[in-house]
Amino acid sequence: KRVHRIAAIPADGIGKEVIPAGLRVLEALAKRDGGFSLEVETLPWGSDYYREKGEMMPEDGLETLRGFDAIYFGAVGDPELPDSITLWGLRLKICQGFDQYANIRPTRVLPGLTSPLRAVEPGDIDWVIVRENSEGEYAGHGGRAHRGHPEEVATETAIFTRAGVERIMRVAFDIARGRPRKLLTVVTKSNAQRHGMVMWDDIAALVAKDYPDVTWEKELVDAMAARMVRKPASIDTVVATNLHADILSDLAGAVAGSLGVAPTANLDPSRRAPSMFEPIHGSAFDIMGKGVANPVATFWTGAMMLEQLGEGDAAKALMAAVERVCADGVLTADLGGTADTETVTRAVIAAIEGANTPSGATAA
Ligand code: NAD
Ligand code: MN
Repeated sequence: KRVHRIAAIPADGIGKEVIPAGLRVLEALAKRDGGFSLEVETLPWGSDYYREKGEMMPEDGLETLRGFDAIYFGAVGDPELPDSITLWGLRLKICQGFDQYANIRPTRVLPGLTSPLRAVEPGDIDWVIVRENSEGEYAGHGGRAHRGHPEEVATETAIFTRAGVERIMRVAFDIARGRPRKLLTVVTKSNAQRHGMVMWDDIAALVAKDYPDVTWEKELVDAMAARMVRKPASIDTVVATNLHADILSDLAGAVAGSLGVAPTANLDPSRRAPSMFEPIHGSAFDIMGKGVANPVATFWTGAMMLEQLGEGDAAKALMAAVERVCADGVLTADLGGTADTETVTRAVIAAIEGANTPSGATAA
């Protein structure tokens, strides 16, 4: 039997509600599949841990995580603590410490969900956004001079390296190659930002030579935002910088129905370190503790985790169960429904457990 070791880090807010739900669903899949089992360790890291110990995770946290095959992550963010402590002390520490440089964000309008875009037909939106996750605008370079004075100057420097851009470009071309349309849109702002962004365009052209079967094009990020709204069906795979893809993927989550369904994977494609799977959303102060968070993003990212662990069949079974439950209208409030987290979770588990029943046999 294949054994996969999972480190679960629910962390803060609704992360503590959706990760336990996700683990129950994964457990149901393992039971149904029979070919693999999961060894899960839940780590208590996050803002409560910080209040107690003065750090978001232990000093040797990365060493602990290195022994796992994958990380299943909830969300960080606390109403009483600055993001510079919470986000940088946990999530970004893991991403950067393990060089998870490829952030993969699939977007589809699941059956039963409606896009806020008026003209969207089912199947119109089927995108993968590839976000550069290790450098660029979030490299942390910059500073403030004359702090608080009228002459204060602050810089926020984006860092792009040839190696960093080339490796994310190859990941994006590989993903585009594996999809039916084989179309890659390279997003930059190379009309206004004339250094790093022009290097992106140059490197894209170079890498493209190794992928003659992939159609590629360039688009400026502002035009891309408009295109996502105006012509969503024209888009397939997208690659963009850390900042640009961050913004575009929230827009993608919104046009797909809700931030509550949008999953993401932080991958180290070389597999030297475990990859991290998480919903895109944050800790959601406004609804935490109420048991109404949408767990679908966490289920979907669980499917991405299974895929990466080599359990493709279980991943497909999970997505089929999620789609069935959504199509049946078992939806949380962010999607216009009345179900709570527990109801959706039970429905997905029931769909997984019932999946072996020949269709028709369960008709009431
Ligand atoms: P958020 O994603 O937490 O919430 C934005 C809005 O979407 C809220 O109205 C929330 O109720 C709703 N929402 C989000 N996820 C939902 C779900 N699963 N079901 C139903 N509704 C959902 O973003 P925010 O409010 O800007 O940030 C709150 C905190 O989370 C901040 O501290 C922020 O830094 C942090 N954050 C963390 C991550 C992460 O851990 N990866 C990502 C984004 C924000
Ligand atoms: Mn974001």
